[in-house]
Parts: sequence; structure tokens; C-alpha cells
Amino acid sequence: MQEKLLQFIWQHSLYNPGALTTATGEPVTITYPGRLNTNAGPDFLEAKIRVGNTVLVGHIELHINNSDWNKHGHQHDAAYQNVILHVVYNKDNADELPSIPVIELSSHIPASVIEQYAALVNTTFQLPCAGRLDSIRDITKESWLNRMLAERWEEKLTSWKEQLDKSAGDWRNLLYWRLAANFGFKINADPFMATAQSLPVNILAKHHGNLMQIEALLFGQAGMLEKDFEEEYPNALKKEYAYLQQKYKLEPIPGHLWKFLRMRPANFPTVRMAQFAALVHKSFHLFSQIIEQHTLKEILPLLEVTASEYWTTHFRFDEVQEVPSEKKLGRDSLHNIIINTIAPIQFLYATRQGESRLEEKALQLLEAVPAEKNNILAMWQEHGWKPASAGHSQALLQLFNNYCSKKRCLECAIGLSILKGRPKE
Ligand code: SF4
Repeated sequence: MQEKLLQFIWQHSLYNPGALTTATGEPVTITYPGRLNTNAGPDFLEAKIRVGNTVLVGHIELHINNSDWNKHGHQHDAAYQNVILHVVYNKDNADELPSIPVIELSSHIPASVIEQYAALVNTTFQLPCAGRLDSIRDITKESWLNRMLAERWEEKLTSWKEQLDKSAGDWRNLLYWRLAANFGFKINADPFMATAQSLPVNILAKHHGNLMQIEALLFGQAGMLEKDFEEEYPNALKKEYAYLQQKYKLEPIPGHLWKFLRMRPANFPTVRMAQFAALVHKSFHLFSQIIEQHTLKEILPLLEVTASEYWTTHFRFDEVQEVPSEKKLGRDSLHNIIINTIAPIQFLYATRQGESRLEEKALQLLEAVPAEKNNILAMWQEHGWKPASAGHSQALLQLFNNYCSKKRCLECAIGLSILKGRPKE
């Protein structure tokens, strides 16, 4: 028995409540087990119980052994003065009982709860509940996925809110930064973001009608134009950038930050930067467009771009491809941008405007995007939980990364359902 399992059992009333008695033999009824306290002090706050004929309201402290009360020095701690009940797994020392009522829970806990818990935490499977997922009710899974998605967005949007405040509430700027980071597709997200933050969106605004100047500004600020080139096009960009850099007193980021290793050439940051430049050129008023459009059919055309002609024969400057290929932003990349930038920014905007109807539409947009594919999602699928949409796949990623891989089964609705042994309806 571990204290966190004892807490879980108490919190979710997974014990047999009949014939609970104090160490001195008085009957105990639990009206309300209290609110779990995650801060310092007693484990459960504002509980309500009846001991004999007396109703008590106050805090509850849990320990494995009753002697832990003194060991932890609670008898001298003012924070424990309002404790009305000491719940222990094991009464190990009858001489050390505090003056408050004590109940011993071990004989009231069904063996199945402890067995199921041991099976979850002692497994070497990546997914501790693998094999038991099909016993979980669909409604439990669905509502837990909704919670996971909300948690994922809450984590993501906390830093976005700070970025929005940093740019004095300029939504266009936030979108520009977030899109830039998204075009870095994880590996180059940081230098992409640094490039965008080094180049004020207002400067791009002045040149957004001229794709070559947009490219010069972005490639230049990315530190990608600092070499001596042989070809005419990069030399032209370099010349244009030198003029604009001086005009706007721009400081580029170091070019060595970019990563090309072990990447498919189509994902090279040079190609992504050219596509990003094409998007800035094509949809400069993207923010006002994306907050007005809510369906996948309306949003996809706003993001569909192809890098400028030079990139049809290049993945990097000065290196001609054997087989030319248009550098169009592919369908998976478009979906990735909707999942990671468009839907969250729509949601954040709706929240700030207090528009719950628009929040719902942002979630619906995510549901319209097909589920992502990766090793974690393949594992969920193998165990019978196939994501139906990007909303589901995002939630399943959150669940695996933040709960399953950390064995936080006691904080998970699926884990609770397994320990409760609820049969599927
Ligand atoms: S955290 Fe939940 S979903 Fe993940 S393994 Fe544990 S019980 Fe299963």
C-alpha cells in the first residue's frame, strides 16, 4: 500500500463503507470525504462525517500507519488542529493514537482494487492499461479525451497569451510568430520563431506585395544569406536584403542554428522558409480571414501555397535538383498548421472575446481534420483506441505523454474506471 493509492481509494470511496468504526468502537459514516488538498496541510479539506451521534465538519489526514501522525509531528502543528478524522491503512501502535477519531481501512478495501493497481504500475508495457481498454465505456473515453484536449490547449495557450501580451494584444503579430514556429515543424521551430521575432511584422507589411523582398527579408533575417553564392537568385536576394537590412537596422539570427541533418529535402528549412514567404505574400490579412472562416473547406485555400519558382529546382541555395519538383505545401503540412496554429488561435481569440459559440467552432474545425499518424497513435490504435479526428489524436498524445508514460493512472479517468471494475455497458 502506498499513501497515494490510499488517498485515491479515499477520494473515490473505493472501500466498503459498511461497519466503519473508530479505534474505540464508535460507528462512523462518511457524508463527504473532503476535497483533495494538493498543497501543504491535511490531505482532505472540509469533510463531513458522523461519529456515533455527532456530526463533525473539518479536515481528514491519511497515513499508512497510525504512528505516522506523531512521526510527522502533526501533534504539534497548528495546521492539523481542525483534523476530525485520521484514516490509516494499518493500526500499528495502539499507544500512539491521537485524541481525534481514527479508522483503520485495510479490511474495508477490496483485494481487486489493490490487484488492479499493482497490475497497472508493475507492468513494463508502454501503455499500462493495454489489454483492458476495451472494457472501458465509450462515454468515459470520450469525456476523458475532451478533458485531455482542453488540458493540451490550456498548456499551449498559456505561453501564447504571454506572447500576445508581449505584442500589446496584436493578434496579427501572434499569428505571424506562431505560424513561423509551425513552419519549423518541431526541429527548426526555435530558429523560425527567432527569425520572425527579429523581423517586425510591420516591416513585412510594407513589402508584402513583393515576394522577392519578402524572401530577402526572411532569408536574410534567418542568417541564410551570409555565404558567397554562385547563382543569380540568391545573389539578388542578398543584395536586396543588404539594402533592406540597412534601411530598417535589422540584426539577423545566426545561420548555424538551422538543422538540415536527417531531414527529407522537402522539409529543409530553406524550402519551408520559401513557403512561409509565399504565405506572407499571399495572405497578409490572414488573421482577419481565419477568424471569419471556420470550416476546413474555407480555411485550406487560405493556406495553400507554393514556394517561388527558384525552389522548383532547388532544396538549398546553389544546389540544383536532378528532378525538379514544385514546392507546394502538402496536405499533411496544411493539416498540421490547422491543428497546431489555426484552431488554437481561433479558440484563444474566441475565449478572449467571450464567444463560446466560436470556441465550439474551433473545436469542430479540429474534428474535421483527419487524425495525425505517429508511433504513439499507432500504439493506441493497436490497443483498440483509434483516433477518429485530429481532436482525438491530439488528446491521445496528451494522455500518453502526460499520464501513461508517467504512470499517472491514479489521476486518469480510465485508471479510475479500471480500479472501480466498472463493467462496460
Ligand atoms: S494513464 Fe490512464 S490511459 Fe494511460 S495507461 Fe494509465 S490508466 Fe491507461
